[in-house]
Amino acid sequence: MTQSAFPLVDTILDAAGFVDHIWVAPSTMTVSQWVRMKCMFGCPDYGRNASCPPNVPSVSECRELLLEYSHAVLIHLVCDVLIEARKEWSRTKQKVLMEAEKQIFLSGNERAFLLSFENCNLCDECVSSPRDCRLPYIRRPTMEAFAIDVYSSVRQHGYSISVKKDLTETADRFALLLIA
Ligand code: SF4
Repeated sequence: MTQSAFPLVDTILDAAGFVDHIWVAPSTMTVSQWVRMKCMFGCPDYGRNASCPPNVPSVSECRELLLEYSHAVLIHLVCDVLIEARKEWSRTKQKVLMEAEKQIFLSGNERAFLLSFENCNLCDECVSSPRDCRLPYIRRPTMEAFAIDVYSSVRQHGYSISVKKDLTETADRFALLLIA
């Protein structure tokens, strides 16, 4: 899917600074059980972030949700700031993306829903429980929390991505904005 059926969405994303985005069919995202396993074993946010597993739907429910949509925008972000500035960079980008989601929703796309590029870090310390979330209207899960194999999925759409061996390397980040 290369042509936008939603030009206003492109306009909103461009104005927000997310010019590197393409339209994709959500069904082209690879949803895999191994991604959830990586959350469960090896990620310190498992059970500690209110927007991460296990506080998300099951892998099969995530797959099912993607199939309810036929249009989505894959957004590429490049993080090239110093390590110590990355948390603030992510927080700022997450807020701007959520404002874009809100504008897209208000423009008549009632199903707009963001799968973010990074574990929610809007607060310095997450409360862990969704019930106690301080910013419930703007917290969102990541693509990975929805068991999307980001590597395989973005490569299918022509993006190059690789495992980084050094935290100082420029990082490619991706978000998926489900539209309709
Ligand atoms: S908004 Fe704050 S409390 Fe809620 S999920 Fe994000 S970091 Fe956790």
